Amino acid sequence: MSVAIALDGPAGAGKSTIAKRAAKALDYIYIDTGALYRTIGLSAMRRNIEPVESKEVSDMLSEIKVEIAFNDKMEQIVLLDGEDVSSLIRTPEVSMTASKISAIPEVRAYLLDLQRDMAKKNNVIMDGRDIGTVVLPDAKVKIFLTASPEARAERRYKELLEKGMNVSYDDVLKDVNERDYNDSHRKTAPLKPAEGCVIVDTTELDFEQSVDKIISVIKENV
Ligand code: C5P
Repeated sequence: MSVAIALDGPAGAGKSTIAKRAAKALDYIYIDTGALYRTIGLSAMRRNIEPVESKEVSDMLSEIKVEIAFNDKMEQIVLLDGEDVSSLIRTPEVSMTASKISAIPEVRAYLLDLQRDMAKKNNVIMDGRDIGTVVLPDAKVKIFLTASPEARAERRYKELLEKGMNVSYDDVLKDVNERDYNDSHRKTAPLKPAEGCVIVDTTELDFEQSVDKIISVIKENV
């Protein structure tokens, strides 16, 4: 039987970087489910489709193929109709479109089996918003990783600057707050701590301390 760790939390809490390191240390596969919603967002942007419930979105879902694969370093890549779009999905525009399109129940249903399949076949740390509540409610360990909006915006801002993007801190904070609102107020699978989860707040922790904390929570519970 494979072991699943559900790691949920708001945008910019550091889930992906922390989970990647913890997965490596514990020999689990790290799955980033946000990348799947981003890929669907990118697909909609390319087709000029509004990220709202509509026949256009339904038709698009029946036409596209979204897949998870791994490169030779065992890092996740996402394929849209066979094209590796892993870097293209990391822009603020795609973030916002993903946040909007992920509120559509049909989009969430479309990605459910793909996520569950990955957890059936591998020991995973799966990062998302609804992993402990909806996707893997029987996960062995559920963690809700959070930090203050300002701390999250600061980290995201630095990340985007490092990637050479021209953004302001205020815009990033606005984005963080808007995505938090969208994610926690949608009707289907809203962002909220799962029952029985361990809440880890990283506002006052640096990266290494956050990784150590996550690893110790997993070790204590597996
Ligand atoms: O995690 P990341 O910021 O890459 O996710 C992009 C968007 O995808 C989020 O703002 C959220 O709206 C959506 N998402 C989701 N459920 C997940 C993962 C991501 O709704 N499990």
